[in-house]
Amino acid sequence: MREHAATHQPDAPPPAIGSSRVIAYAIVDKRVHFTGTQRLFVGDKLLGRTPRIAICKSLQRELKGYLVLFCSKRWQVLGIAGARSLPLAKKEVERHYAGIADKWVTVNTSAKAAKRWLAEAHPEDVCSFCGQFSYEVDAMFTAQSAVICSSCVDAFSNELKRREPA
Ligand SMILES: [Zn+2]
Repeated sequence: MREHAATHQPDAPPPAIGSSRVIAYAIVDKRVHFTGTQRLFVGDKLLGRTPRIAICKSLQRELKGYLVLFCSKRWQVLGIAGARSLPLAKKEVERHYAGIADKWVTVNTSAKAAKRWLAEAHPEDVCSFCGQFSYEVDAMFTAQSAVICSSCVDAFSNELKRREPA
């Protein structure tokens, strides 16, 4: 079996986490010291040290800046913070995870590659009619092997109304 270079690092994240493309990630190993100064609450619980951290960009156009995703070993998101730039995101993480500076792995997943992967990994999140992802629309409806988004439902419903005899 042939391997694709970057994607098969054993601990590497998928190209997209939720609706965000991964720009850089770090594995928090024993040499990284969690300072305990971070005040990131999830609900009313203070988020502690997480074993994986990914710096991402949202695929939603209106969301500017970067997202710092604090993740489980299997890249499930446990907590989220925002940052205005990549250096600021790294700096903020390094304040709480001493020694993480040289652990960052840059992957710079493109929006195209992230969407391609999402469509393959989560076909239930893609409208069968227009190809929009669930994060791009208000709602998704699934039946058997088809998925339809709310904007297609609206468009079809308007079209039907237009055809109704007055
Ligand atoms: Zn649609």
